[in-house]
Order: sequence, then structure tokens, then C-alpha cells
Amino acid sequence: MREAREKKSRKWVRPRYVPKRKVCFFCQNKTEVIDYKEAEKLRRYISDRGKITPRRKSGTCAKHQRLLAMAIKRARHLALLPHAPSHIRETEGAGLSG
Ligand SMILES: [Zn+2]
Repeated sequence: MREAREKKSRKWVRPRYVPKRKVCFFCQNKTEVIDYKEAEKLRRYISDRGKITPRRKSGTCAKHQRLLAMAIKRARHLALLPHAPSHIRETEGAGLSG
């Protein structure tokens, strides 16, 4: 029972739908430091399930994605951003009022 398919050489070959090359939002604004206290900005990079949006979705460059992820994690730690879907309902729209 061997499945000798071409799995080894194929990494990320997706010729189907190639969206427009997005430019990193932070590069556009020449942001060097992403502030974890600006939860409103970071919220854009969090999915409805509380996950950090992947780079290929948000268009953020590698450098800023790293900074962004770090900032989001810090913000989460301070309860400015949700960790899980269950958190979102509780803090929706009232993240700062406590
Ligand atoms: Zn960037």
C-alpha cells in the first residue's frame, strides 16, 4: 500500500487564483514600531475567531508580520485583544471600558 504521489516536491504551488499583490500597511506608513496599546489598529489583523490573520491574507510583509504578531500577543496579554472566539462576545465593543 504505497501512495507514490508527488508530494515531496510540491510545496506551495497554487496557480489557480492569484490576488493582487498587497502592499504592507505598515511599510506604506513607514511604521517601525507597532504599538501593542493601539488595540484598534491591531484588531484589523485579527480574524473573527481571534486569530492573527496570516501574511498572505493581510499582505503584511515578513518583518512587520513578526512585529505585529508580537504586538498582538502583548495586547492579548493585557486583555486588549481576544484570545478565543468566546472572548470576543464578552469584550466586543467594550474592550477598553472593562
Ligand atoms: Zn512591512
